Amino acid sequence: MSRDPIIAIDGPAGAGKSTVARHLAQHFGLLYLETGAMYRAFALKAILSDHDFDDSVALERLARDTEIRLEADRAGNRVYLDGEDVTERVRDSDVTQGASRVSVHPAIRKWLVDLQRNLGSKGGVVMEGRDIGTVVFPDADVKVFLDASPEARSQRRYEQNAQNAAVAAGAGAPPSNSDHASISQELRERDRRDRNRANSPLRPAPDAIVIDSTSLGLDEVLTRIEDLVRPLFFTEKAAK
Ligand code: C5P
Repeated sequence: MSRDPIIAIDGPAGAGKSTVARHLAQHFGLLYLETGAMYRAFALKAILSDHDFDDSVALERLARDTEIRLEADRAGNRVYLDGEDVTERVRDSDVTQGASRVSVHPAIRKWLVDLQRNLGSKGGVVMEGRDIGTVVFPDADVKVFLDASPEARSQRRYEQNAQNAAVAAGAGAPPSNSDHASISQELRERDRRDRNRANSPLRPAPDAIVIDSTSLGLDEVLTRIEDLVRPLFFTEKAAK
């Protein structure tokens, strides 16, 4: 192997990719890179500059005037848009929907895929997204496609949001049922767009290991993936 290992974690929203990828990175001492944050940052730029998410020509022009930077820290990734830290803002629902709309445009994908390849070129990374195993690093050493039923994924998102909201408010008021319904609807819309776009649709690479986490706990998912990754490190050490 001429570079350090690359681990690709792909799958739909709410399947648990971020949690799993962050744990793996910590466990094996790898860099964690969350590519969705880049699409989110560009969607935010489109919102702030009043661009139409469907206008591919104007968005391509806007991209030439945009700088997006990902920085790995212990808790995850920080994302910078034109030098400004937008890590928290890109989690808002307008940006989430925007990200899945700007990501259908081939020129935007090419720009961000080039940046992602650059970030991961030396290896030693766990990269998480939708097309890492199929497009960004088709030669990744381990490819996992993490899936779960739409119901399980919206339930997890709901609990995650409730937790974040409680922390932010300093109190435990849970979101209402309508939040639950809108989370579920947003997730389905995103799924539909991500799976059906012409360019790099969300699907497992032919050589990906597909893990359905609907009825698995985090520990079980992690154990399975750690078992896939561990041999890469033993082989390297044994060869030295
Ligand atoms: O992973 P996350 O939910 O933050 O991604 C936001 C959106 O960005 C996704 O719904 C998808 O449309 C897009 N995305 C993508 N390719 C990636 C990562 C994210 O198209 N590698």
